[in-house]
Amino acid sequence: MMFSIPKYITHWKLINKFNLRTLSNSFKGCWKCNHSETSNNFFCASCGVIRDIPANEDFFDLLNQRKQFKIDLPKLTQHFHLAQNAVHPDKFSQTSDKEKDLASKWSSLINKAFKTLSKTTDRGKYLLKLNGIVISEDNSTIDQAFLLKMIEVNESVDEAETTNELETIRNNVAQDIDELTEALETFFDVKDMEAAKQAIIRLKYLQNIVETIKEKKLRFSLT
Ligand SMILES: [Zn+2]
Repeated sequence: MMFSIPKYITHWKLINKFNLRTLSNSFKGCWKCNHSETSNNFFCASCGVIRDIPANEDFFDLLNQRKQFKIDLPKLTQHFHLAQNAVHPDKFSQTSDKEKDLASKWSSLINKAFKTLSKTTDRGKYLLKLNGIVISEDNSTIDQAFLLKMIEVNESVDEAETTNELETIRNNVAQDIDELTEALETFFDVKDMEAAKQAIIRLKYLQNIVETIKEKKLRFSLT
């Protein structure tokens, strides 16, 4: 036999009905045979070798998701496991060092993609980045009324003396988070990127408060 398809590729094809994919301009063709199609994200469609990682590999493509804010978490998790399975180190024990190295790099990237896409604010930030919008760390663009409200809530967390008080604050903040997340979905739907950006900044503040409450509750339970 001149050429046999490695087992992991046929397996991947069975469980994942991807069409052949011609990759974006960042993909210069297979490093081994120069072919320009892949059988899925990871392997050359012609020689079956694991492909190089393009500089701007897209997390949504990588985990077979539509490029949108709304996400089906169980489906995302399923594709994460499929992807990790495809590049699992055990499957590369008989291959060259270069292939082993590529498999491990793909694996890290898959982890990073899953971490990013599974978290609301990180997914939102990533989607904004794909649209050319970066959120800076300073708060110069944030609404002053909102900032004042956050200072107030933080003070009330500071002053809370019982777990019950903390719970009440947490419930209010959780409700704000739910409402804001829903609004964020709409902003992305109608492609209002500036509003989406503001919502993500606010969400981050609210999530930080939830974290502070969690830590304080833990301190209460220890004393
Ligand atoms: Zn190839």
